[in-house]
Amino acid sequence: MERVVAKFGGTSVADAGQVRRTMALVQADPRRRVVVVSAPGKRDKTDKKVTDLLFLSHHLATGEVSFNEPYSIIAERFKTLAADLGVPGAADEALAELHAGLTRGESRDWVASRGEHISARVIATAMGAVFVETGDLLGIDAHGRPTAESYPKLAAALTGDGLFVVPGYYGHGPNGRVKVFSRGGSDITGSVMARAIGAALYENWTDVSGFMMADPRIVPQARSMSEVTYSELRELAYMGASVLHDEAIFPVREAGIPIHIKNTNAPDDPGTLILPTRDLAGTPVVGVAGRRDFTVIHISKAMMNKELGVGRRVLGVLETQGVNFEHMPSGIDTMSVVVATEELQDKLDDVIEEIKRVIQPDDVQVFDDLALITTVGLGMAHQVGIAGRCFGALAQHGINVRMISQGMAELNIIVGVQRDDFEEAVRALYEAFVVDLS
Ligand code: ADP
Ligand code: ASP
Ligand code: MG
Repeated sequence: MERVVAKFGGTSVADAGQVRRTMALVQADPRRRVVVVSAPGKRDKTDKKVTDLLFLSHHLATGEVSFNEPYSIIAERFKTLAADLGVPGAADEALAELHAGLTRGESRDWVASRGEHISARVIATAMGAVFVETGDLLGIDAHGRPTAESYPKLAAALTGDGLFVVPGYYGHGPNGRVKVFSRGGSDITGSVMARAIGAALYENWTDVSGFMMADPRIVPQARSMSEVTYSELRELAYMGASVLHDEAIFPVREAGIPIHIKNTNAPDDPGTLILPTRDLAGTPVVGVAGRRDFTVIHISKAMMNKELGVGRRVLGVLETQGVNFEHMPSGIDTMSVVVATEELQDKLDDVIEEIKRVIQPDDVQVFDDLALITTVGLGMAHQVGIAGRCFGALAQHGINVRMISQGMAELNIIVGVQRDDFEEAVRALYEAFVVDLS
């Protein structure tokens, strides 16, 4: 039988009411045989995510401060959840393990993984489904990517037509111990399971009716996309459209399995389908996304263009310091590197000093208030004037463009603006492309 993997995010399992919706959705389609769950998320804007409380508990435990307060909130949430679902006590054993783990100094990753672990155990019990501990089966390499050996192992554990509940977010690292993906990583687990069982579809159930053409917190009236390609989605997700983890597409893309983003609270809404290709007619641009908090290191040196190896040496400095870079716009006598500010942490002084040593520049300046915004669409390659429209819209809103980058693939145009202009710029670009071009 054709099978579907259905991943339910934090808000879809935030309390018993939401879990009941989730369970009803699973029962509504007999193809939904592998259910991946997150840890309980926020029930309202002021609430805390269980994963955040777990990180806090671990932090306190390692500082030899009582972790009782966050632990009690976590324990209460799971106990209430189990009781309200009619399976009182279903969380007790796993909660006792968590308490013991915190006490004996288990790793940060192990503690963080317990949110998904307990969530999956409780939900499996409530659904009368099989809980599958995939921690030992799903390998995560040093770069945080799922390993190829995981697929046959997971496929073997998920054979038959039973109903399986799988915890998201974690597996084991190269040393065999529990390791978590980066935040939001249950999306990757769902994708890995879909690939492992050769699913017909990977459904990702969340709290929005699909991928909006701009972050709904910035553009509340943003329209949702009906279709988007894997590559477009990756660009948008990487730059801040956080609906789906940007690395979640890789496992399913290789196998050609479509992803369907759906809303648990409005299941009849069409949602967004993520596919290898789409019909480009009419919608050259699919969306706009961006992130604040980039730092630019701007290097000037007369006749830099004539000097061989400057770029290599600058990137060599970043590599030695373990800093990833995003972009490298350059002029005749200048070169800039754009880096996510969190990458630099306390390395900035060392990076500058090293650049001065290996380049002997006339000047080095640092701007730490850059926001990057990407306008994405495969159809852009076939349209004249897209860049003009982009800069026209920003100019009309009085926004100064500090940096521009467009790859040869013409999948996107990236502009850098001052952090304070970020939201205004997203709105300007949304209006220019999404509203005007449709
Ligand atoms: P889950 O807990 O289900 O994994 P997430 O919180 O990770 O859900 O992702 C859904 C959230 O992503 C939405 O509630 C919304 O606030 C945010 N978001 C950011 N950009 C977009 C966008 N372009 N379209 C839709 N939602 C977006
Ligand atoms: N619970 C984890 C987080 O909050 C993973 C996830 O929800 O995808 O990041
Ligand atoms: Mg998520």
